[in-house]
Amino acid sequence: MSQPYDLVVIGGGPGGYEAAIRGAQLGMKVACIEKRVHKGKPSLGGTCLNVGCIPSKALLDSSHRFEATQHDLAAHGISTGAVSIDIATMLSRKDKVVDQLTGGIAQLLKGNGVDWLQGTGKLLANKVVEFTPLDGSASQQLQAQNVILASGSVPINIPVAKVDEDRIVDSTGALEFAEVPKRLGVIGAGVIGLELGSVWRRLGSQVTVFEALDDFLPMLDKALAKESQKTLKKQGLDIQLGAKVSASQISDTGVTVTYTQGGAEKTAEFDRLIVCVGRKPYTEALLAEDAGIALTERGFVQVNDQCLTSVPGVYAIGDLVRGPMLAHKAMEEGVMAVERIHGQAVQVNYDTIIGVIYTHPEIAWVGLSEETAAAKGHEVKTGQFGFAVNGRALASGEAAGFVKFVADAKTDRLLGMHVIGPNAGDIVHQGMIALEFVSSVEDLQLMTFAHPTLSEVVHEAALSVDGRAIHAIQRKRK
Ligand code: FAD
Ligand code: AMP
Repeated sequence: MSQPYDLVVIGGGPGGYEAAIRGAQLGMKVACIEKRVHKGKPSLGGTCLNVGCIPSKALLDSSHRFEATQHDLAAHGISTGAVSIDIATMLSRKDKVVDQLTGGIAQLLKGNGVDWLQGTGKLLANKVVEFTPLDGSASQQLQAQNVILASGSVPINIPVAKVDEDRIVDSTGALEFAEVPKRLGVIGAGVIGLELGSVWRRLGSQVTVFEALDDFLPMLDKALAKESQKTLKKQGLDIQLGAKVSASQISDTGVTVTYTQGGAEKTAEFDRLIVCVGRKPYTEALLAEDAGIALTERGFVQVNDQCLTSVPGVYAIGDLVRGPMLAHKAMEEGVMAVERIHGQAVQVNYDTIIGVIYTHPEIAWVGLSEETAAAKGHEVKTGQFGFAVNGRALASGEAAGFVKFVADAKTDRLLGMHVIGPNAGDIVHQGMIALEFVSSVEDLQLMTFAHPTLSEVVHEAALSVDGRAIHAIQRKRK
């Protein structure tokens, strides 16, 4: 057995690498075990950096520029001639961004004195971790004072559309299409399905999205869900709700999808099909039987609010545990677990985790929707204001969407903020900070917002909660 570690982290995704760095900052001797090999090289950064958040945003950006160059520049008096896109260049730019960031994490671990152990970690009994190196050398046993399990998640596979890495792919395969499919099917209108569907639609695919549920983005405030559906439809995404895919058949010419909708069985033909029906926690080869770690019915590692598992000194974070599968949630849980180990009484505020869908315009939210707030017993008041009359939004031709606030009518306490519009993913942070500081709507109303900025819409939306937005015909109600 090697020299003991204060902390062994299994998994080097956003949850794991942040935990490892924070541990080192606090003076711990830390190892981070990561087994991922990306494009032939061992790689840190997990799903997020290698095949998730970052590559998808790189492609969203490239495809948005392509579409905007074709359609939005003429209004500025800019003419371009025929616009074309070289997919290989777009993909290699994406790969460079990924390389730069994953390489940066390796530097950060090194600079902080964290041992990156390249291979597989398995938790045995008594906080011993078995490490099996990628290079095929003999396994070692590491004694750890504390362990953080951060092995993340993998795409859910459904037998009705088995991934063959050619005609049928998952989200990882959809980041690598060498050419634009003419007809593209997407199963699942969740965040990932909509983002990837948007990328390829902008590049020229005819995209159909199949969603088994009748409601579109049911976790969103209804006003936001309705506006998003309308906007994405207008952009050309064919979103089929109440459409459950029941079979798929690959042929030489494509893939035939069978689905049921409104009681009828229907079929559709595609060149390629992306399966985006959610992700599941990844525990393969992670836990020895006598490790003592309890799992939930759905296969997540069971943890308390502080991410402690059923074994003292063993924590689990990120996609491996309950809660939204988001990189920033994983990161903050990693930091919390380490600081708890260090004796600090920190707590992630799960009520203020932001959600963002990086379509164009972006969709972002924090806190309670109008419907959830009412269901929780609040007497709800709301205010909404559009970007359509905002000077900055109009000046940059990005005037779609709105900001909506949800508040408690009795106490004036802010409960939620919902944004669809330019830079929604950034703008929504104003609501997150306000929620963290337990702001009233009046607090926001009394602040001075710079002119001309997109954030003025935040101010107007707060004012409109009480019927006193300035750039709308509103009479103060009280
Ligand atoms: P992961 O990032 O999955 O990392 C876990 C790591 O552990 C993996 O690299 C794995 O190889 C390693 N591992 C597993 N088992 C072992 C073992 N036994 N030994 C050693 N190593 C092991 N989230 C956002 O917040 N914003 C976004 O815009 C966003 N976009 C996304 C787009 C796509 C296409 C996808 C698929 C996901 C996206 N996500 C996004 C979700 C985000 O990627 C995850 O929530 C996040 O990566 C979870 O972090 P994690 O550290 O828990 O796990
Ligand atoms: P998310 O979990 O947010 O990534 O979204 C995945 C979506 O896929 C959910 O909204 C599911 O309802 C949807 N889904 C799962 N299975 C099917 C299926 N067979 N056909 C159509 N949609 C599906």
